[in-house]
Amino acid sequence: MTLSLTRNSNPRQWCDYCKTRFGQLKDGSWHLKAQVPAVWKVTSETPNRRGMVRFYCQECANEAQKWADGTFWSLKEQLDYAIANFATQEKLNVELP
Ligand SMILES: [Zn+2]
Repeated sequence: MTLSLTRNSNPRQWCDYCKTRFGQLKDGSWHLKAQVPAVWKVTSETPNRRGMVRFYCQECANEAQKWADGTFWSLKEQLDYAIANFATQEKLNVELP
């Protein structure tokens, strides 16, 4: 499996995490707070399943990177950790600004 962290370039792409958190209204439209443009695009590919993509806004990326004790753990390090610990044969491809 390959994991890629890149900048999202599509301004109409919303953050998946915010969409999950705020969801849709009864009429089927998205909650206003769910409509947050994504900044980060995380793609994972396996031989069987190509291009599983997740989008994050900066706020959600920050939240994912900060821990209760104040430790800062970057997305790249989290991906590195996941690769090192759970998938020894996987390849990491990370692109940061
Ligand atoms: Zn978000």
